[in-house]
Amino acid sequence: MKNQLQQETFHQLLLAQRVGLLERMASERGGVVGRAEVAADHFGGNEDSHAQVMTQRDAEFAMNEHETAELSAVDTALARLKAGNYGICLDCDAEIPTTRLLAFPAALRCIDCQSFAEKRH
Ligand SMILES: [Zn+2]
Repeated sequence: MKNQLQQETFHQLLLAQRVGLLERMASERGGVVGRAEVAADHFGGNEDSHAQVMTQRDAEFAMNEHETAELSAVDTALARLKAGNYGICLDCDAEIPTTRLLAFPAALRCIDCQSFAEKRH
């Protein structure tokens, strides 16, 4: 359990991240910059990147998936902050180090459990 000041800091970080994500998603969904341009811009210049062999549709789908997952992690973190269990690993109940949370405010697992979860996929 983090102290009051830390909780307030993480709350602000999460809200800022949430706003940034929503703005990015909105602009990619037909805002000032069209979706296709965003995808082209995103993968431009990486001649050898395997992103190039994906079709444009696949690339956009992958980006959406990533953003949706990121947004849901931010929302979960905000809910946990409110519930008073923010910074506690979802899987092993260990306290997530503050340094990790400062780098990734939406981190829901400790590093060990996160890398384990990623390997499962
Ligand atoms: Zn853990």
